[in-house]
Amino acid sequence: MREVRITVVVDSYRGEYSYRLGSGWGLSLLVEANGQVVLFDTGPRPALLEHNLRMLDVKPSRIDTVIISHEHYDHVGGLEYLASASPGATVYVPAGSTGEFKRWVSGLGLQVMEVRETTRIGESVYVVGELGTEWGLFEQAAAVRLGEGMILLLGCAHPGPEIVMSKAMDDLGLNLYAVVGGMHMVGADERRLEILARFLERHDVSVVAPLHCTGEEARRFLSERLPHRTMLLHVGSVLELHGV
Ligand SMILES: [Zn+2]
Ligand SMILES: [Zn+2]
Repeated sequence: MREVRITVVVDSYRGEYSYRLGSGWGLSLLVEANGQVVLFDTGPRPALLEHNLRMLDVKPSRIDTVIISHEHYDHVGGLEYLASASPGATVYVPAGSTGEFKRWVSGLGLQVMEVRETTRIGESVYVVGELGTEWGLFEQAAAVRLGEGMILLLGCAHPGPEIVMSKAMDDLGLNLYAVVGGMHMVGADERRLEILARFLERHDVSVVAPLHCTGEEARRFLSERLPHRTMLLHVGSVLELHGV
């Protein structure tokens, strides 16, 4: 039996019982898979990451690997804390990130690893990269293998969630079992949301967990349109997925 645990460390959505945790605009997910611990994005502020990791009883020194989806502040702001709590940790960034960003990360004493192509970084963890946008931003995703499927983690999915999901399936040759994270649907109309819902249905994605910049409206739409697939997670949620 294999198990993957994903904990929502930072997000703007709060749950009924998550009052001890801070929330804010940004994203950070902790992945535990077959003994490997990876932090996917770090939220907007060092103090928020520090506080929530403490409240969730996660020792930051256990985190020696970080995957940064893209260089927007709401995904990289916690790196400063991580640099002090887990010195020398490895940080995977899209190769197309700005020089200024890469220099800032290495200046914190962290080990910068640039990713251009989809890369395996552990027994079952992959960086899916990199995808660009028309306006010159580069973004990558993370995938965790579970049996014949994968769990895909999205930062903001600025290149388009369907594009990122398709790339992950093409590159890894695995089914898309679950997708967790930001799907960048704030302001999207119903027609656009229907396209996303059909894509998720067509690929038979069992678990859809829209967070962060997916937006309130899109969260509601997906939970009504795909009620048996959608999980409305929030800061402090733990998603445990088992494979054979
Ligand atoms: Zn962004
Ligand atoms: Zn974002």
